Amino acid sequence: MFGVVGDGLAGLVAARRLREAGREVVVFGSSGGEPPEAAFARPVSRSDDALLGLADDVGVAVSWEASPDAFYVDGTVHPLGNARELVAFPYFGLYDAWRWSRLGGDADAPGASESARERCVSRATRGVCDSVVDSLSRAYAGASAADVSAAWFDAYVEERGERGRVAVSALCDALADGVAVRSDARAVGLAADAGGVESLTVETATGGRETHDVDGVVVAGGPDVLESLTGYGCGLARRDVVRVTVRAPDSVASARRVVVVDDAPVDLLVRRGGECVSLYATVAPGENVNFLGALGSLFPDFDPDGASEVRTTRAPSVVFGPGERGVPPELASLPGVSYAGVASERQRPAPSAAGAVRAGRAAADAALAEVVR
Ligand SMILES: Cc1cc2nc3c(=O)[nH]c(=O)nc-3n(C[C@H](O)[C@H](O)[C@H](O)COP(=O)(O)OP(=O)(O)OC[C@H]3O[C@@H](n4cnc5c(N)ncnc54)[C@H](O)[C@@H]3O)c2cc1C
Repeated sequence: MFGVVGDGLAGLVAARRLREAGREVVVFGSSGGEPPEAAFARPVSRSDDALLGLADDVGVAVSWEASPDAFYVDGTVHPLGNARELVAFPYFGLYDAWRWSRLGGDADAPGASESARERCVSRATRGVCDSVVDSLSRAYAGASAADVSAAWFDAYVEERGERGRVAVSALCDALADGVAVRSDARAVGLAADAGGVESLTVETATGGRETHDVDGVVVAGGPDVLESLTGYGCGLARRDVVRVTVRAPDSVASARRVVVVDDAPVDLLVRRGGECVSLYATVAPGENVNFLGALGSLFPDFDPDGASEVRTTRAPSVVFGPGERGVPPELASLPGVSYAGVASERQRPAPSAAGAVRAGRAAADAALAEVVR
């Protein structure tokens, strides 16, 4: 039997691939049936072949729309969608506006050591960096913003015009069909001998422990899970991401995505449907932020008492710095264990739904190759 640790998109993709290869698979998760990230629709770009192919295979629709970002500066939301808005943006000169509008996607050579800021200065202008790109990097990487890679910047530029949206929960439901998923069983230990991994121990929601004999294990959780099970350190900057979803009046943000340039506890706002807005922030472990209060101070029309249905997700994530590769699917020092989580090299240049699909497939293939050998 193959054990998959993690019942999110990456783990379910790996499980499906193993099952299609005729292997018995059990997915162990700690989400209680609701992986923290699965509830949200995800942006997809036209070049996300693996994710688009998967959505097509399992019959999950992708909707496309033009959704240029707006930037919140000095208390005002500035949309930057067309030439008129670019010229009206008070923090751009004419030359900045022109260079920003001309930026095109440019696939980065793997391992290139340029940072996002260096790439932006060479491709656009310092003014573009100072007024918008530094804030974009902060929204993605928090305290590690200075380390964001040029590859991430290129990916952003490539998808900034038109984004697709796909419901990760629908993908997960379709992938889980016919697979044994234990969403109340947190992996707490791996046992291995010189020949490879032998067993996986899980703790159930009621505190019981079970040990399962395994032929191989795919770890599809965060870098903390990989490290606690195997001692393998991913070597990437860690960050704790918080997403708070608030049901609030439309007036909070009419643009789909608003990047907060002003100094505020919130980095990014994403409008979801009529009345919902999700706030993203990078927080220190254990830090508590009053997000409704933060929203109220950004938007004076927002009444925190009128907000309802607040959902908060916290998850460990990583930042891929310039030239950093991440964790390979096959862990040479740990025969029988492969990796598909957010620190996977297949998730570069930033953890994403598309990266989770690539990583899940690669880890399953590595696990299968190990058994054949
Ligand atoms: C706040 C936030 C916002 C994001 N926004 C976007 C976005 O807008 N677009 C985008 O493309 N990507 C985004 N991502 C990236 C996201 O990581 C991917 O979209 C993808 O859904 C992650 O899938 P996953 O399976 O790798 O991780 P997850 O969905 O996090 O799944 C990991 C699973 O492992 C389980 N687990 C953890 N520890 C254990 C254990 N010891 N034993 C068993 N199971 C365990 C967890 O319960 C969880 O269900 C975001 C991530 C975060 C944290």
